[in-house]
Amino acid sequence: MASSRALGTFRLPPLPTIREIIKLFRLQAVKQLSQNFLLDLRLTDKIVRKAGNLTNAYVYEVGPGPGGITRSILNAGVAELLVVEKDSRFIPGLQMLSDAAPGKLRIVHGDVLTFKIERAFPESLQRRWEDDPPNVHIIGNLPFSVSTPLIIKWLENVSQRNGPFTYGRTRMMLTFQKEVAERLTATTGSKQRSRLSIMAQYLCDVQHILTIPGQAFVPKPEVDSAVVHFTPLTQPRIEQPFKLVEKVVQNAFQFRRKYCHRGLGMLFPEAQRLESTGKLLELADVDPTFRPTQLTVSHFKSLCDVYRKMCDEDPHLFAYNFREELRQKSEKRG
Ligand code: SAM
Repeated sequence: MASSRALGTFRLPPLPTIREIIKLFRLQAVKQLSQNFLLDLRLTDKIVRKAGNLTNAYVYEVGPGPGGITRSILNAGVAELLVVEKDSRFIPGLQMLSDAAPGKLRIVHGDVLTFKIERAFPESLQRRWEDDPPNVHIIGNLPFSVSTPLIIKWLENVSQRNGPFTYGRTRMMLTFQKEVAERLTATTGSKQRSRLSIMAQYLCDVQHILTIPGQAFVPKPEVDSAVVHFTPLTQPRIEQPFKLVEKVVQNAFQFRRKYCHRGLGMLFPEAQRLESTGKLLELADVDPTFRPTQLTVSHFKSLCDVYRKMCDEDPHLFAYNFREELRQKSEKRG
């Protein structure tokens, strides 16, 4: 008890400011790498508070850079913070933080897209999927070009309960371009409703928790950012393989202004398109004249369940790709 209270009340000793660290280690942002830093520790504290109670938590921070969010996480009384940073210029500054928080900060010079977090924390942290989430959190402000592919990869990991979700329903709090955050959290019928909305919301409870104006970053990016929090659901809203759901959702949204039967029709070879699309929509009980943005997660569940049955009946169907059919046709013509 005494030791857990000691962990909970940890504060970093006085340190140079992030601005001074940037000067000291010559950490100019590299524009090509979309590096924009948060220097205001009141703001990073506010962001980190949104992750919930981090006392004694095990936290995985992706892309710590000069360490603003890192300091706020350490001050939240975590048991251990593991950071993965790709740019070696940031390692000495992070090392200074590690020296100020003995035994708490582990630094990995590596790439979040390949780093295996599932082996990094003690096995004893693992919880059953149905239980409350483990005391393991992912936090990160990454370049937008990394955060979107990363969330797709992690959503697939949620569906397979592997990677960071080996510990159970690990919570994630990540920063995205504001428009991407709006897509992730968009409700049925809204303008921003898209493939990302369905893919995130069928697996997770997704909350847009904070908008960060561009001017909060140094250098100031062209766009605003937003922080999104994800808690994996105990029961996914669609119980089909991730790749199958992805295919149905991707097809449905490819003609987003047209009726949904247009995009969904592309799941089937041209010769059977009309008949199979009619069958899919009828069995799934979905109105063919709905726009993709009007479809609920529950509509997608029915569509995926029926499409799965159709794939089981026709073993070639899942591999069908209408772009490939178009390419072959134009080759023949050409
Ligand atoms: N988190 C810091 C902050 O809020 O001030 C830095 C944010 S900056 C937008 C993104 C950081 O992610 C940079 O430090 C960059 O080097 C790092 N980064 C970019 N791609 C990465 C990757 N694939 N793996 C690990 N770190 C990465």
